[in-house]
Amino acid sequence: MIRAVWFLILVALISLAAAVVADNPGAVSLEWLGYKVDTSIGVLLAVVFLISVCLAIVFRVWFYIRNAPKRVGKARRDWRRERGYKALTQGMVAIAAGDAQEARRQARKAENLLAEPPLTMLLSAQAAQMSGDDKAASKFFEKMSERKDTKYLGIHGMLNQAIQEGDKDVALDLAEQANDLNPKTDNVSKALFELQVQSGNWEEAEETVRKAVKDKHLDTDIGRRRRAVILYQRSAEAESNGKLSDALNFAKRANNLVPGFVPAAVRTSRLLQGAGKRRKAASVIEEIWVTNPHPQLVDVMEELSSGVGAQEKMRSVEKLASYNKDHEESHLAIAKSALVAEMWTEARQHLEAIAQTGSGDVPAARICRYMAELEEGENHDVEASREWLKKAAVAEPDSAWNCSHCSQVMAEWEPLCNHCESFDTLEWRTPPRVTRLASVDLETSNQGSASEEGAGETIDIEANSETNSETGPQPIERPDGGS
Ligand SMILES: [Zn+2]
Repeated sequence: MIRAVWFLILVALISLAAAVVADNPGAVSLEWLGYKVDTSIGVLLAVVFLISVCLAIVFRVWFYIRNAPKRVGKARRDWRRERGYKALTQGMVAIAAGDAQEARRQARKAENLLAEPPLTMLLSAQAAQMSGDDKAASKFFEKMSERKDTKYLGIHGMLNQAIQEGDKDVALDLAEQANDLNPKTDNVSKALFELQVQSGNWEEAEETVRKAVKDKHLDTDIGRRRRAVILYQRSAEAESNGKLSDALNFAKRANNLVPGFVPAAVRTSRLLQGAGKRRKAASVIEEIWVTNPHPQLVDVMEELSSGVGAQEKMRSVEKLASYNKDHEESHLAIAKSALVAEMWTEARQHLEAIAQTGSGDVPAARICRYMAELEEGENHDVEASREWLKKAAVAEPDSAWNCSHCSQVMAEWEPLCNHCESFDTLEWRTPPRVTRLASVDLETSNQGSASEEGAGETIDIEANSETNSETGPQPIERPDGGS
């Protein structure tokens, strides 16, 4: 609208000027180089206008010709860049689709066409890695690590390679570098932590956990648990180095960080006992018994009353049980030490108490074995004892320390699984996927006395790699007619 108004004003002005010139033609006389021109002002203006237009056209053509090489160059660069980015995109698509050959082809193309090493190097490295050419990949990662803008990506790539190759020292060094460059990256701090614990750098690992909790990469409770496990290990190392007071200190801190953490309580109690503080040692066990009664705590309690008779030991176990007196483990603990003390009535009373609360047709293997022992000890009834042992063979097996990652069963709890080296994966539970072989031959095995170690049956524990920590105890698989 405004343009139209301006145009009208312009037309009006030109018309006005033309009218003024037409009304006042005037006279112009030029004399130059022997030529003489007489004309009106209107003609002069028209000639000046035409000359200006011609000059403008000439200049335009001249500029066009002069800039032609530049324009051709730019067009060529644009074309290369367009094709380069297309190759880069197609390479990324190939990576996502898992087509290594196509990814490498596109990476080479992008490398030739584009002058942007960070992007093309990353694609080339990934393509090389995908096609199994680790050497080429590490070359790209190294190159990337030398540039400021791609340093982190390069180190991260080299770190993943070192982890895959199992080169822990190199991996640890790279993880530290990556973590320094980008301290708030979750997966690097995770990798760093794992490498630190696997290489035994427990103090540094504790610091990594603290940082991860602070940066909110790690849940506070998980952080506490990890620190408790680390402190447990530091305590064990201090003890083996003869630094008993440090060992006790670490164990106490682990025990305070996570209430109900049985290995830390056991360790603290044993160290207190070693330091001559028997009452304190017992109170640590009694305290955890309230929330987490565990068979290994009974062993510690019995150690605390070593040197005294079986009946006195039984009294101290009874006292421990009184802190959680209706729990199955409390009854079992008393029954076990009553059997040792040959206090048959008490043993029977507590085993029957569990039978009343227990679920399922067959009581747990431990209970069956205790019953077998009781029948033989109290009534000298070998037949009844044998029946109980048969039941023990098909009962749910005793809980043990099981790795939730590789299903390895370990006698003692350790911070790292001694099979797969996973951190804090040992759980107290029924071994997963227990398959009994049909060769359970109770008739031929020696049943003279039932012992804590088992009833002489052959048990084959199959590791089930698919088991994860969340699934808990697995159902028992029994072959048909296996019992
Ligand atoms: Zn394991």
